[in-house]
Amino acid sequence: MDFKAYVRNVPDFPVPGIQFKDLTTLWKDKEAFHKSIDALVEHYRGKKIDKIVAAEARGFIIGAPLAYALGVGFVPVRKAGKLPAEKISESYALEYGVSSLEVHRDAIYPGEKVVVVDDVLATGGTCQAIIRLVESLGGEVLECAFFVVLDALKGEEKISVPVYTLMRY
Ligand code: AMP
Repeated sequence: MDFKAYVRNVPDFPVPGIQFKDLTTLWKDKEAFHKSIDALVEHYRGKKIDKIVAAEARGFIIGAPLAYALGVGFVPVRKAGKLPAEKISESYALEYGVSSLEVHRDAIYPGEKVVVVDDVLATGGTCQAIIRLVESLGGEVLECAFFVVLDALKGEEKISVPVYTLMRY
């Protein structure tokens, strides 16, 4: 399936100069949504994975159905101030702005193998912050999975583990 046909490019959102890859146009289509999640499921089926770790908020749209289909746990990484129990945090630079992410301290146990999922890999700051969170809890990130990798931003060079993606621009 040509997933790129379902991606809407929005120039200058949320700030001038950004080519925003809008995946809502893919997710709203029942066949494209199903087949795109299935593509990730097929890639990870049979691999020894304990948990899918996904970034708020668009990572949840991909990460939750993927974890469900693989029969593994799901761990949400959230923006600062949202998680209720004891947590650790990491700051990171975005393609536009700075932010910080948090995960519950008991979300991942030492030695667990996880896949990190998000919608778009841009500069790589978000993904690398999530890898640091997982590793500081003793988890091992096997791979990071995306719907879209923006090659020109060279985010992949910042990621210390292999990257899997459905689309590249
Ligand atoms: P980065 O940390 O720069 O790799 O940015 C990744 C995060 O920002 C992801 O969670 C994306 O959802 C979002 N993002 C950054 N740039 C874009 C873009 N051009 N189009 C869509 N989402 C983006």
